[in-house]
Amino acid sequence: MTDSTFPVKWDLASLAPAPTTTVFRELLDQFKQTLANFAQSTNNLPAVDQNRENVRRWVTLLEQYEQLDAQATDLKALIECYMAADAECKAYQQLQAELATLTPHRELIATNIEFALKEASDEQFEEWVSSADEIERNAFFLKIRRRNSSLRLPKSQEVLAADLAVDGIHAWSRLYDRLSGSLKVQVQEKGKVVTRSPGQVQFDSPQRHVRENNFHAVDVAWSTVADTCAEALNHISGTRLTTYRHVGLCDHLESPLRHNRMKRETLDSMWSTITAGKGVLKEYFNSKSKLLGIDRMAWYDLTAPLPSLPGSSTSDELSYETACEQIIDSFQGFSPDFGDFARMALTKGWVEAENRSGKHQGAFCTGFPTAKQSRIFMTYTNSADSMSTLAHELGHAYHSWVLRDQPVFLQDYPMNLAETASTFAEAVLGEQRLKNARTDYERLQLLDAMLADSVVFLMNIHARFIFEDNFHKERVKGELTSDQLNVLMETAQKTAYRDALAEDGWNPRFWVSKLHFYISSLPFYNFPYTFGYLLSMGVYAVGQDSGKEFAETYRKLLIATGCQEAEDAVQSTLGFDLTKPDFWVKSLHIISSRVRQYSALTDYILSKLNSI
Ligand SMILES: [Zn+2]
Repeated sequence: MTDSTFPVKWDLASLAPAPTTTVFRELLDQFKQTLANFAQSTNNLPAVDQNRENVRRWVTLLEQYEQLDAQATDLKALIECYMAADAECKAYQQLQAELATLTPHRELIATNIEFALKEASDEQFEEWVSSADEIERNAFFLKIRRRNSSLRLPKSQEVLAADLAVDGIHAWSRLYDRLSGSLKVQVQEKGKVVTRSPGQVQFDSPQRHVRENNFHAVDVAWSTVADTCAEALNHISGTRLTTYRHVGLCDHLESPLRHNRMKRETLDSMWSTITAGKGVLKEYFNSKSKLLGIDRMAWYDLTAPLPSLPGSSTSDELSYETACEQIIDSFQGFSPDFGDFARMALTKGWVEAENRSGKHQGAFCTGFPTAKQSRIFMTYTNSADSMSTLAHELGHAYHSWVLRDQPVFLQDYPMNLAETASTFAEAVLGEQRLKNARTDYERLQLLDAMLADSVVFLMNIHARFIFEDNFHKERVKGELTSDQLNVLMETAQKTAYRDALAEDGWNPRFWVSKLHFYISSLPFYNFPYTFGYLLSMGVYAVGQDSGKEFAETYRKLLIATGCQEAEDAVQSTLGFDLTKPDFWVKSLHIISSRVRQYSALTDYILSKLNSI
């Protein structure tokens, strides 16, 4: 195959008519009408029982629902793709807003179905599920929906609460968005004070005083809104705790755990294994401090680049073709199925990678369930980083590919399982690059990036979890001031980072600057990340111990993410019990072996330098 077989632009035309055409408009209008009619029809659902007429109606209804859900996903994905590739186009923005108006219909359908399932007794439900194949194949989806219904208030209260939330909990979240969006930072650049938004101020300067100055400049800016953010945070979690009280939930972790289809024992086992094993990362900090020539790291040093050392050339340009070949090659090494998939996606126009202006920032992978295809959006910049991004997104696309023949409702997976395939794909490429690294410095850099990730998942996100957990416990007793929140955050950081940073090196106002605490629709936007990261590390570790047959086990695991609880998915495929430490220990072994390599390389490189 020649190089030109990897197009840098994607093909959207084969998926659907372009959004600006009249054919598309007709399709969309027709879809809107069908969805609205269907939503209306769910106001009058048949009983969940074995009555033949009821079962027949449910079968038709679920088929229609599946089809509409897939079409809604297709449409959303299509507009998302067109918008990302042409950020300025007003027509796409309008279409996106138009699609958003369909959300209430979809919510109405979900609510009506959950309430219908809630009304059935356990026995009735079980009998109903097995009364027809078309219902039975969606058994897991229906079971989850029925379980979610127990977190709902009575229907009339639910409706009132949802209406009030627009000016209540969601309004606090919007207030945060407005405050953080308009925040300005005064920062020194080339001897002049300039105004920047917080996102524009970086902490990756090779010069420590620049990192330190930037950190303090941003912190000063956040401190000006801390009191208002404390109000928002108090009321967001206050509203949640009130709702939990009304539905009879005593544990504030129950709802986020259910969202992620995992058990409390699993979460506890994961954190306690991390706590017992993360001490090894202090060794990484020691080595990195030596490389940076500092005594102890501070918060703003965590993202510091490695110093350039004699003989370290990092200017290698990586063409798109080379990156594609490298990815296919490393995936192929794991399994022919994975490699063939990557080749298909990269040659058949599934990827938009062109580096041009007018595109959105960032990267994503989105699925078109009806066509059983995905599309990947990114900007390829001839760097190793963007090659990793491409591998990450191809991992997501492979996940959807493996799930493509499952019923639509079993193609969905929760947040903690969403990053398994993508992080795994990155790990496959990363290990290959480590093996092929040409110099010690290149190897050191690769390990540094990998370990910086480990610090984020095992320490930074752990701190966020400890903070949020303790905050919820305190909030039950009353509101907290911004000073109290600072103390809570610094204590959480010291615990999570094992006191590894310098005495004045913490970031107590982190709770003000982190958007994740203010997402009103979802609490604890943290532990699923760590779960997903360690799950993919563990999968990688198990794969290393197994033979060629592991590729098939991996496929089965990916399929299980859509139709089983997290624990069952892992137990039935990898044979590990997530409520016990064994699996997590395996994941941590990968990290500790990387730390050992990093420390040895650091000592070797520094001793060579000193002997010059
Ligand atoms: Zn991802």
